[in-house]
Amino acid sequence: MKMTRALLTGPRSFQIEEHAAPEAGPQDVLIDIHTCGVCPSDVRFYSGTRAGATYPRTLGHEWVGQVIDVGGDVSRFAVGDRVAAFVQRVCGMCRNCQRGMSNMCLNRLPAIEGGFQTVGRAVSDALEPIPDDTPYEAAAFAEPLACCLNGISRTPIVPGDTVVLMGVGPIGQLLSQLAQLRGGRVIAVDMIPERLELAMELGASEGLNAADPDLVKKIQDLTGGFGAEAVIVAVGVPAAELQALELAAPGGYVNYFAGTYPSATIAMDPNVIHYRQLWVTGSYHFTPGGFRTALDLIAREEVQVQPLISHRLGLDEIAHGFDTVIDQAGMKVIIEMGDGG
Ligand SMILES: [Zn+2]
Repeated sequence: MKMTRALLTGPRSFQIEEHAAPEAGPQDVLIDIHTCGVCPSDVRFYSGTRAGATYPRTLGHEWVGQVIDVGGDVSRFAVGDRVAAFVQRVCGMCRNCQRGMSNMCLNRLPAIEGGFQTVGRAVSDALEPIPDDTPYEAAAFAEPLACCLNGISRTPIVPGDTVVLMGVGPIGQLLSQLAQLRGGRVIAVDMIPERLELAMELGASEGLNAADPDLVKKIQDLTGGFGAEAVIVAVGVPAAELQALELAAPGGYVNYFAGTYPSATIAMDPNVIHYRQLWVTGSYHFTPGGFRTALDLIAREEVQVQPLISHRLGLDEIAHGFDTVIDQAGMKVIIEMGDGG
């Protein structure tokens, strides 16, 4: 069987090629990949900004599709099932897993192959069924939403809290909705007006421009002078990461959700944390449980994901899709290998 894949042969260089489809080993499932989302972590391989990147490689870890073959040891899935793949297996037994942080499992095993190709291979443990009425393109948000669930679990928002969401790209939009599900009032902050408008369409109460010199004052005015009980930084920009500390209320939470590339330092006054008793945390990656919850939230439409899709492109347009993410010229870019919903 032949398949088509987008091979990244080096920075800024995709090659669309025909290739022999893989065989299913005893524990493997082969999937006709329908949709794969473009993640900023993929884009760093493409832009050449990922330290230590090797090429060639097939990118893509936010993918969904339909089972076309199963190995002899696989009992959970059958041909025709619709599935979402998650990128890694966790061991459940290492120190981090035992302490409830399987997102940082010390023995993570690769579980799937890249998603920007027409046929994918995964071990069955790395697949979850997609509920019947959920479109593929919505289910493709399970992995990013699972990462956001991990983030929100480390930001204990309660009803009545004000949550400042710094950066409302695709991830910030998901975090904004989760903060609202916890009862928070969201103030979205971004440089791009269209992103603020979308955040407000999806329930944020306010949208403020990140470049506004009065940003801190406006947030104080909106919070009776106290600041926000939670500030989630969904953009890896040192100036925003520093400002987040200033926006938090006494006793508030600051979550550095986004990674910072390239690595940077911020010059902060520890007294800001000390005298205001701030909780400063980070969050990274996702857990298998979070992945299942994410699919449920998407299927029940408690989190809206399809309004985030700005570009639906074919595999042969993948370079354009990646350039779009680099240029921040859209919102979520998805690549569609298949046809129909
Ligand atoms: Zn582990």
